[in-house]
Amino acid sequence: MAPKKKKTIRTIPQQRTPPREQDPLVRARNFEEVNCGYRLEDALREADRCLLCPEQPCVAGCPVGINIPAFIEQVAAKNLRGAYDIITSTNLLPAVCGRVCPQETQCEGVCTVGESLEPVAIGRLERFVGDTAISEGWTNIPYVEPSGLKVGIVGSGPAGMACAADMAKAGCDVTVFEAFHEPGGVLKYGIPDFRLPNTVVDAEIEKLVRLGIKFECNTLVGRLFSVEQMVAEMGFHAVFIGTGAGYPSFMGIPGESLNGVLSANELLTRCNLMHARDFPKFDTPLQPGRQVAVVGAGNTAMDAMRVCLRLGAAKVHCIYRRSKAEAPARAEEIHHAAEEGIEFHWLTSPLEILDDGKRGVRGLKCIRMELGEPDDSGRRRPVPVAGSEFEFEADMVVFAIGTNANPIIGQTSKLKLDRRGYIATDESLATSVAGVYAGGDIVTGAATVIEAMGAGRRAARSMKAYLGLRDTDVVYRDAADGSRPMLFGIDLEEHDFALVRLPKPGAGDSAQPSAAPPTRHGTASTQ
Ligand code: FAD
Repeated sequence: MAPKKKKTIRTIPQQRTPPREQDPLVRARNFEEVNCGYRLEDALREADRCLLCPEQPCVAGCPVGINIPAFIEQVAAKNLRGAYDIITSTNLLPAVCGRVCPQETQCEGVCTVGESLEPVAIGRLERFVGDTAISEGWTNIPYVEPSGLKVGIVGSGPAGMACAADMAKAGCDVTVFEAFHEPGGVLKYGIPDFRLPNTVVDAEIEKLVRLGIKFECNTLVGRLFSVEQMVAEMGFHAVFIGTGAGYPSFMGIPGESLNGVLSANELLTRCNLMHARDFPKFDTPLQPGRQVAVVGAGNTAMDAMRVCLRLGAAKVHCIYRRSKAEAPARAEEIHHAAEEGIEFHWLTSPLEILDDGKRGVRGLKCIRMELGEPDDSGRRRPVPVAGSEFEFEADMVVFAIGTNANPIIGQTSKLKLDRRGYIATDESLATSVAGVYAGGDIVTGAATVIEAMGAGRRAARSMKAYLGLRDTDVVYRDAADGSRPMLFGIDLEEHDFALVRLPKPGAGDSAQPSAAPPTRHGTASTQ
């Protein structure tokens, strides 16, 4: 066979492969996914654009260090199972992260191809692999000898899920307590189906259930029992808190208590989790606005505006006090929102919500802004332009101007908080209470899905050390080329995974015996 020619920037496909998308005017009225993803031929073409460069800046650009070139190489070789195994050795939720990670500032932002052409569409490829795994029913369920240790996780968002998975793989008996009636955190209650379908999140959660993780929903920790009680009375040897930052902010302007004024989190929760969008099939309606003003220009604002359109609003306005260049939302989200007909009012700040005389909203009084000197955030400070006040009509106003720490845990425990009310931790994500760890938005403030997952995994490493567990990240697989089995890129022969044993005869689904020969430490098997 002729040797494979080395790829260069000139020989690879020059254009990024676009995903299939719903037409903007059609999709603005339904909750189906906007981005319909890649087909195999799209994925193969895009995978061919990766130069497999030795520097691998994308790996460092990923907060959880996915071996991106290796998984793309497997996609190019049509070994999608191999690609899935590589991704899931570090990232639990490829179908989720492929959809919602801000790749343009992470892996794709540092892609070598991106220095000359558009970067490789790493996120789209990751989603393709994650979606294939869901449709094929692939999972990496290891057999793990129970350690006899009990771990409690508070909050079922990406931080809690990532921590729960690692602790379960270390042999712990893991219970996740969630305040809402369904697990998933922002992935379920915040991000709408047209960006991330709840069915995708549910499919990923199902894998955690198969790992043996128990989910206790409708359980508000801090009200039913405290974090201290979990350790002292409920038998949990370690606890992780991943309660997020879901407490909404308002501006404090006149009119905020009028009917028709709500936070983006309330709007999204009522639409996504409480099924307001499915009224009358579900008995939980939400009075939709006809003329809606959404204040803010982050991802949450974009989601809230696009949800309002789909709920039937005639016109949706985005009110933001800085310019488009400073808007925190992903460029793709702003682009999609504009395509769907959202009207953007950059450099505009609300002054008052106007009363219709019946305690409802009749409009918004705003003022124009201009940009001054940079503020603490490094962005130019918006300054009001004197005499530029104006009013416009609206019957619903939604605030999407940021969120704060969920306060209940802080109010009901002795955990040390920082001055903004977030849980204070050390480098290892240990809190001020022994055996209690925290991570994700409740520590950092609002961030990203992948960062929350990274924190969950980091905390799990510290918790394993605290509990005296060796590193037992046990996802076994047969090496395709017949070489010794690898585990998270580590040669099993070099490591002693103390808690891993051969499956017991007659063990259930999660402990499926393998035809592969046992190693000193376990067996080479996936599912
Ligand atoms: P969360 O996801 O907030 O989960 C915390 C969970 O804890 C919740 O389910 C909550 O109900 C539960 N909880 C809280 N208090 C208690 C308690 N006392 N007892 C029991 N349970 C409790 N990031 C991206 O990377 N890409 C995006 O496109 C993106 N879009 C977003 C859109 C919206 C609308 C929002 C709000 C955020 C978005 N983010 C996005 C940010 C991202 O979702 C968060 O950074 C991430 O979900 C944080 O994960 P977490 O696990 O720390 O917390």
